[in-house]
Amino acid sequence: MISKIDHIGIAVKSLEDSIKYYENALGFKCEGVEEVAEQKVKTAFFNVGGVHIELLEPTSEDSPIAKYLEKNPHGGVHHVAFNSGDIMADLAHAKEAGVALINETPKIGAHAKKIAFLHPKSTYGVLTEICQDGECACH
Ligand code: ZN
Repeated sequence: MISKIDHIGIAVKSLEDSIKYYENALGFKCEGVEEVAEQKVKTAFFNVGGVHIELLEPTSEDSPIAKYLEKNPHGGVHHVAFNSGDIMADLAHAKEAGVALINETPKIGAHAKKIAFLHPKSTYGVLTEICQDGECACH
């Protein structure tokens, strides 16, 4: 079951500059920076009332975030992530409902979460991530 919004992923050119914005202008506190090699991104997290803002800076030119920034040079909202208690069941359910899956089986994201994406062509234009909490040493 999907129970809540886990985080909102925001593509940025510079993690350093955008962290300053969130800290200085909005008063948030960065919880930490983590590189996710498989997704070719560096991430920074802010906890906003239990929902996280996930900033994503590409670490390589063929990162999906680098491609997004080519089309959206100022950055922008990249994806919305929903927290699932059983990612395999929720993926199967979405597939049964006719949704195209980008990931048929989960990959490992930041904080060792299991993550999988639904294709925006099936989700009314929103790149949608389903994630399930993993075993993470930092929480
Ligand atoms: Zn995400």
